[in-house]
Amino acid sequence: MIDIYVLSREALTDLVKSWGEPGYRADQLWDWLYNRRVASFAEMTSLPKGLRDKLAAETRLGSLELEAEQISRDGTVKRLYRLPDEQLIEAVLMEYDDDRRTSCISTQAGCAMGCVFCATGQMGFARHLSADEIFEQAAYFARDLEARGERLSNVVLMGMGEPFHNYDASVAAVRRLMNDLGIGARHITISTVGIVPMIRRFADEGLQVKLAVSLHAATDRERSALLPVNRRYPLNELIDACRDYSERSGRRMSFEWTLIQGQNDTPAQARTLGALLKGVHCHVNVIPLNPTRGYDGDPSTTDRITSFIGILKEYGVPATVRIRRGIDIDAGCGQLKSEALRRRRSTVEDTSSG
Ligand code: SAH
Ligand code: SF4
Repeated sequence: MIDIYVLSREALTDLVKSWGEPGYRADQLWDWLYNRRVASFAEMTSLPKGLRDKLAAETRLGSLELEAEQISRDGTVKRLYRLPDEQLIEAVLMEYDDDRRTSCISTQAGCAMGCVFCATGQMGFARHLSADEIFEQAAYFARDLEARGERLSNVVLMGMGEPFHNYDASVAAVRRLMNDLGIGARHITISTVGIVPMIRRFADEGLQVKLAVSLHAATDRERSALLPVNRRYPLNELIDACRDYSERSGRRMSFEWTLIQGQNDTPAQARTLGALLKGVHCHVNVIPLNPTRGYDGDPSTTDRITSFIGILKEYGVPATVRIRRGIDIDAGCGQLKSEALRRRRSTVEDTSSG
């Protein structure tokens, strides 16, 4: 069955014409899909019933199947989707008081980068997502928001996977978010572990997308222990590429720093970070660690977080704590999936032993 979201406007027109319908039906269909954002063909009331039935019989509105959904006390929605080949991926919707509706989407099933504290890294790499699979995660949220009179305003490629390890699909998905869902480049963020050649290539795209780089340590020795990719692309090369990106895109960079108690939250580390980023047009997002099964670390306490941020300010480096959204529903990267896999495995074990 054809996934209707995969078709370009031209392909959609060809399909509709091949069914003997006039070309303007494709324009109407496009409007229902991407402007009015309905979730069923039945709602496309300006289309003749015959065409709606044919669409419902021969196409589908997306290829992601909802496997599980959790809604946190703060309103954060976390979804686990099943892909046609049974892979599981996560997508999150965060609602803020100022009308921002931000969707956090995945670019891969699993991840090959092996960052030690990350639930996705701990499960390893399964496969790349296609541009359409990346795009659809946001399109589904856009659809649900539209149904209650709200708009998806921001998208962050910060779910499972490393976007720059799946560069072409991630960038193609970003372009679709801009063109088809009308989300401005300035409202899209790509978060990368720091694959330097791809940061440089992305700068050449000339998009004003915000780039967030996961730093987590300010010396090569410490960073390589947390993020194996640092052995390949050390800090000096990474910071150079970030500086260039910021200059070329005209955007302020973001750096992510997951604070782990007693690991990367000392005053000395804050000072090393301050010195490293001094003069870089940037902002540091400090995120207390979300504990995972595969990593024995704790989030930093509030006073250590405050002191870390205070020291960065002395270096002229702005920093804020990113509030952990959806903490009661494991909304950290990869956590819902790893819990689901664990449950699947324990069910299999239970039945095999019983
Ligand atoms: N692969 C990309 C984007 C996905 S991870 C990247 O690494 O940037 C998104 C962010 O969540 C990264 O900054 C990552 O380091 C952080 N992260 C992963 N696991 C975490 C955890 N257990 N607690 C807090 N932050 C975590
Ligand atoms: Fe992959 Fe990002 Fe997790 Fe590292 S933090 S393992 S790059 S998803």
